[in-house]
Amino acid sequence: MTVLVLGGAGYIGSHAVDRLIEKGEDVAVVDNLVTGHAKAINENARFYEGDIRDKAFMADVFDRENVDAVIHFAAFSIVPESMKDPLKYFDNNTGGVIALLEVMRDHNVNKIVFSSTAATYGEPKQIPIKETDPQDPTNPYGQSKLGMEKIMKWCDIAYGIKFVALRYFNVAGAKPDGSIGEDHHPETHLVPIILQVAAGERDQLQIFGDDYPTKDGTCVRDYVHVVDLADAHILAMEYLNNGGESTAFNLGSSTGFSNMEMLQAARDVTGQEIPAEMAPRRPGDPSTLIAASDKARDVLGWDPQFDDVHEIIKTAWNWKQKHPNGYNDR
Ligand code: UDP
Repeated sequence: MTVLVLGGAGYIGSHAVDRLIEKGEDVAVVDNLVTGHAKAINENARFYEGDIRDKAFMADVFDRENVDAVIHFAAFSIVPESMKDPLKYFDNNTGGVIALLEVMRDHNVNKIVFSSTAATYGEPKQIPIKETDPQDPTNPYGQSKLGMEKIMKWCDIAYGIKFVALRYFNVAGAKPDGSIGEDHHPETHLVPIILQVAAGERDQLQIFGDDYPTKDGTCVRDYVHVVDLADAHILAMEYLNNGGESTAFNLGSSTGFSNMEMLQAARDVTGQEIPAEMAPRRPGDPSTLIAASDKARDVLGWDPQFDDVHEIIKTAWNWKQKHPNGYNDR
């Protein structure tokens, strides 16, 4: 039986494919390569280039492959972009999952693990955030993912498609051997941007907002290593294979780091000065996102190996130094 990974050429998807192959799974990948990189896909996976919204294409993939479970990463994920172009997000993320679920239903595939996000919670009512807390997104990206969660719920009731929604907090780092890593065009995420400054590719970091109600006024986020995150998907798939009910899990470290603290950690790791300036708030940013992650630990047995942001940044810096131009395939 095959695990079908949608978005397996992307940052998180490529690490998940890599871990699945390491664990001996048979893997097929679908990716439209709009943001992903063919070179990021483990060579032992079968690759189909196409779009999850293309139902004829997807039906063909399901006809060819003996799909047991789907792991779905194929979505847009940039908060500021979603503020400017919400329909792009509702189309690809929310619309994409409708097309996907239709094809899964028609092919009797009834297990899916997919990327959701801390952004579904919006401005949290309490810290750390629990899975049962209210979800009220402050940006279209979070709304598009919340829509996916709600659609899944009704498809479970109607068609028996079981799902696990994994609500990611902030993902960073790279496979420790530096062979795969993060490569976005344009880059918008904090850690890779800091490392671009460290590498001399950008003059300085802009820190968006220093008047948030946090310890140093800059936003606080909860960072998880991409390989730990990838492993949580495999555990979630095993949970469904063992008859687990549809549910959602937060994936975070339960520790918050401010943007200033992340900058300092990167200065420590790289030994570079990394100039930075304060800039206005970025629209759509909640001030603090920290996960309660005991549910994933208790139910899935998730045991993240990277519990220190310095170690996380070190793996991202290793990737960056080995691949100064990323995958260099554009
Ligand atoms: N951030 C920043 N400068 C940058 C990029 C990001 O100050 O050049 C901040 C951003 O405003 C947020 C935090 O870093 O407070 C994390 O942003 P990122 O885009 O990495 O992840 P998000 O939390 O939006 O998923």
